[in-house]
Amino acid sequence: MTEDAMLIADYDALLLDLDGVVYVGPHAVAHAASAIGRARSGGVSIAFVTNNASRPPEVVAEHLCELGISASHQDVVNASQAAAHVLSQRLPAGSTVLAIGGPGVRLALAERGLVPVDSAEPTPAAVMMGYGADVGWKDLAEASYAVHAGALFVATNPDKSFPTPRGIAPGNGTLVAAVVAATGCEPIVAGKPFAPLVNESIERVGAERPLMIGDRLDTDIEAAFNTGIDSLLVMTGVTSVRDLVLAAPHRRPTFVTPDLRGLFAPAEFARITTDPAPSSLSPLLAAVATAWQRSDSGHDPLAGLDLGSLQALVGAQLAE
Ligand SMILES: [Mg+2]
Repeated sequence: MTEDAMLIADYDALLLDLDGVVYVGPHAVAHAASAIGRARSGGVSIAFVTNNASRPPEVVAEHLCELGISASHQDVVNASQAAAHVLSQRLPAGSTVLAIGGPGVRLALAERGLVPVDSAEPTPAAVMMGYGADVGWKDLAEASYAVHAGALFVATNPDKSFPTPRGIAPGNGTLVAAVVAATGCEPIVAGKPFAPLVNESIERVGAERPLMIGDRLDTDIEAAFNTGIDSLLVMTGVTSVRDLVLAAPHRRPTFVTPDLRGLFAPAEFARITTDPAPSSLSPLLAAVATAWQRSDSGHDPLAGLDLGSLQALVGAQLAE
């Protein structure tokens, strides 16, 4: 196959979600390192786009390097950086911002010329809330006082929970929800599925034709929709064929491939359409497109579908 027939040939940058795309927990996803290396050597820009701002970009880059993926801190774009950028567009340099969350929040504010503070007295220009394991009631109270007094309210990400070795723990979205409940004010949210983090990533790498790649419909793929760019769903993370079939219109990817190797196959082998080019994945592409059409015209998208055999098709390709 010629290079310009590949899916990746239409794009100048890949915006990659991390967990479920590049790694799962501490381990690399199969073929991710080689695919990213190949894309880079072909001149495609790479950004690693994460809602998780609890680890500084340097630490994420080190983790990626350990997995055999060359990355510097500048390749990692997190939701704290996007939130601080949102604030810097709305506030004069030197404005005070009540910083709630881990060290990444203060760091991102300072990088944008804003002054992090830890009290609502005197009223700061804004409140920025991000995840931090030490955030407690007093922090939520300070945030509530400031928001109620008129401070601009920005949150890094809306994630309600995240997995830990001991089970599901409350995420930033849950802490933000406490301040929303107390004040009646909704924040501007920077992270996926909202557009600021994706826009920050596009700006960082200077992309004109970016492709968002993720494993979650309700964050990565919806963020691409909200930004107006194409998206690729990979099946190495949390999304099942059933989830894809049932996706609402704003959570439907442009392409689906089992893993990142699909970037180097023809785009027509990954585009979700009722009339796909013949390939080993075409039964899935056609079934999903047909199910979406049925759903949009008020019919049961699952009728007549053999989800088990479609999921097995994906599983077989992942194992190849
Ligand atoms: Mg993910």
